[in-house]
This record gives sequence, structure tokens and C-alpha cells, in this order.
Amino acid sequence: MTQEKWGQLRGKLLKTVGQNNYTTWIEPLEFQELQDGVAVFSVPTNFMGNYVSQNFADIILYELNSSGASVQRLAFRVAANSTARPVNAPAVAAADPETPEEPHPPTTDTSNPPMGSLQAAPLDARFTFDSFVVGKPNELAHAAARRVAEGGPVTFNPLVLYGGVGLGKTHLMHAIAWELKAKRPDLNVLYLSAEQFMYRFVQALRERRMMDFKHLFRSVDVLMVDDVQFIAGKDSTQEEFFHTFNALVDQNKQIIISADRAPGEIKDLEDRVKSRLQCGLVVDLHPTDYELRLGILQTKVQYYRKTYPDLKIADGVLELLAHRISTNVRVLEGALTRLFAFASLVGREIDMELTQDCLADVLRASERKITVEEIQRKVSEYYNIRLSDIIGPKRLRSYARPRQVAMYLAKQLTSRSLPEIGRRFGGRDHTTVMHGVKRIEELKLTDGQIAEDVEMLRRALEA
Ligand code: ADP
Ligand code: MG
Repeated sequence: MTQEKWGQLRGKLLKTVGQNNYTTWIEPLEFQELQDGVAVFSVPTNFMGNYVSQNFADIILYELNSSGASVQRLAFRVAANSTARPVNAPAVAAADPETPEEPHPPTTDTSNPPMGSLQAAPLDARFTFDSFVVGKPNELAHAAARRVAEGGPVTFNPLVLYGGVGLGKTHLMHAIAWELKAKRPDLNVLYLSAEQFMYRFVQALRERRMMDFKHLFRSVDVLMVDDVQFIAGKDSTQEEFFHTFNALVDQNKQIIISADRAPGEIKDLEDRVKSRLQCGLVVDLHPTDYELRLGILQTKVQYYRKTYPDLKIADGVLELLAHRISTNVRVLEGALTRLFAFASLVGREIDMELTQDCLADVLRASERKITVEEIQRKVSEYYNIRLSDIIGPKRLRSYARPRQVAMYLAKQLTSRSLPEIGRRFGGRDHTTVMHGVKRIEELKLTDGQIAEDVEMLRRALEA
């Protein structure tokens, strides 16, 4: 791997990420060295390293490896000045790195461009409403985002979207911005992360251009600030944010905020900021459920098909992934990217075996921890019967049906075999378990109530 080779590779990335992303994120990367499977790049800022690592690490890894280099991981180093810290990128980009301290304006620094106009953070071309899969866990957030994206009169201000890592907050915010750009080109829409907000603020302080800063931020029509929890504990930034916020609300300008938890629960966020945020519409993105995950995977596969038309995926692979990788959509996508890359490198079909080989670590990390006992307990609570009646010998329908539901769930949600499950149901034979599982499978198709019961229980257990 050489600088020259990286130069050629970059060209391929242009196709995948689009011109906008390419110019902003890929072009500035400078390849430094490849050592022990770690490809090291220098980047102009820490923020950039983090962003690239979270959003493009998979694609870069894939291109590097397809070109013959053997790279397991990427690392980003902030170029030039000695105070910079390295940023490490995991192969499948995971949770946000720890947030840095609020920087104090250094006395001399010439590396940053002057703050001329308000350049918004680039929007990811992939994050549109079209590519956003709607399910129960995110339907409210999606509906609210759609409403705001119409650009009509401001009805709720601010809109606050909150939820755990990788549940689609940034995706929805970019989607709003794209939509507004298309529908209301007259509006001045500004999207940026809370970190960038702080960065600009500090820069303005340093360059003694606070008036410009205030003027610029007060002249937008729609302000979107992503990951607002970042400014918690950073007092001067919070203060400035508060003033910006108030000025815009007074002018009836739309504000859209995201956070990783409910505003009231963000530690070290000033009360006045909290209460401002709570004044608007606060909606949360719930953890994904099985259907949503499967939907997202299917959508992704269609998208990949455009690039790899003869890609083959065996039945059950997507179901396995949706079932086993249950938290973060980013991890889910990362797993799929890795599968495709691996399969096309070795020229094999994506079947169960390849999936197990290629994703052993991811699958192990997300090994289901649901136990048969837990299922029995939840089912007995749900049907309001005693645990002993689920396990015991009574054949009454009012016990037998819940018992079968529990057996069915045990088969679906644990890796226990039929005999093992039988043993946990008071030493029943495996054929009894099999019969129970079959019965529920049939009933699910004909009896809406049973279908709903099973669904509710599965959700409760997976939560
Ligand atoms: P967050 O900002 O909440 O941490 P992101 O918006 O960055 O999460 O989402 C992480 C990844 O998961 C992105 O690639 C995004 O496109 C994808 N994603 C999340 N939710 C959905 C969804 N409902 N449909 C399609 N893709 C999704
Ligand atoms: Mg985000």
C-alpha cells in the first residue's frame, strides 16, 4: 500500500459516496502508513476523523481490501500540531467516542479557515426519507419529521428527536434538510452538529468575531443541531446556544434538535436549556424491533443489488441478522457491508455458513440472552396464571395454550433444542414440544388473538 495506490483507490470511493461526501470527507484524508493491519490516515481535525470513522470506515476498508491490501482497521491521526490526539476507528464503527472537553481558544492558530459565511455541514446523500424504513418504533418520530419537512407554518418549536445510538436520528435530520432544500429553496436551512456549533463559537471568540457569529446564526430560517448532549457541561457554549435558540424562536424560525436521551435526562445541561427544549414536541426513537430490522436489511440489499447485480443471499440469512443483531442499526448495516465485501472477495454465495464465519464476532457479541425460564415467567404473567401451571401437568386449555406459546417462544428465541426445552417444561418429551410449536405456528395464521399475544410477548422479551 502506497500513497499512490491510495490516490487511485480514492477514485473508486467517489462513486460510492458521491461528490459531496467525497470532497468533504475523503479527499482530505492523507494516507500515512499501513502497519500490522492498521491503515493510518492523517486528518485535519479530530471531528473529521470521528466522522469518517463512523460513516465511511466500512466502505474504505472494503476498497482497501479489494485492492489487495490486508487491512483490519483504520486509524486517524490529526495532522501537524502536537496537541492533537489520535482517533481510532473500529472496523464496524460503533458508539460515539468520548466527548472531548470544551476547548479554550488558543492564542495562536492559523490552521483554520476564516469564518466567512455559514457553511452547513454536508448532508449524506443516502439519508433521505425514501431510504428511511418506517416501523412501530420510529413511526412517531418519522411523522413529526415529515411534518416539519413540509416547511409550512411552524407548529411545534423545537422538534426534539431523541433515542439511542444508531436509531436514525441523524438520518431523519438529513432527510428533513434534503426535503426542505427541494421544496423550499427560499429557506436558509442550517444543519450542524452541536460539536460544530461549539467549534464555530470558539473560533468566533478567538477571532473576535462574535458579532458575525450572532448575525449569521440569527439569519437562518431552519436551524438543526444534531447530538445536542454534546454541549452539556460546556457552559459558555450552552449559554450561546440558549441565546441563539431564543432569538430564533422569537422570530418564529423552526428549530430541530437531536439528543441521545430525553432533554430532562441530559446531565450537566442547564435547566433553562432543558426547559426550552421541552417546550416543543419531544419524540423518541424506540429501540428497533425484529420487523423494522428485517425491513432495513431488505432495503439495503436492494440498494446493494444495484452495484452487485448477481449477488446471492440464501434464505434465512437476513432473518438471522435481524434476529441476532438487535440494538444498533449501524452495527446491522456494518454486518451486511462486511458480508457483501467478504462474499464478493471469496466469490461465494452468502449462505448461513459464510455468515457464521464472517460475522462470528458480531453474532457472538449479540448472543441472545433470553432464557427459557424468563419466557415461562413472562408468559405466565401475561396470561395471569401461575408459573407452576405452565410447567406442571395440567391439561386444561387455559394452561395448555399458554404453555404452547411459551414453548414456541423458547424455540424461536433461544438456541435450546426441543429435548432441552421439554426438560424445562417439567420433563416433557420433545415430541410434545414439537407439537406445541406447530400448533402455535398454525394458530398464528388463523387466530388474530394468538398472533397478537405472541407478538407482544416477543417484543417484551426482546426489549
Ligand atoms: P443516530 O444518529 O441515531 O445515531 P443514524 O441516523 O446515524 O443514527 O443511523 C445509523 C445508520 O442506520 C445510518 O446508516 C442510517 O441510515 C441507518 N438507519 C437507522 N434507522 C434507519 C431506518 N429506519 N431506515 C433505514 N436506515 C436506518
Ligand atoms: Mg447521529
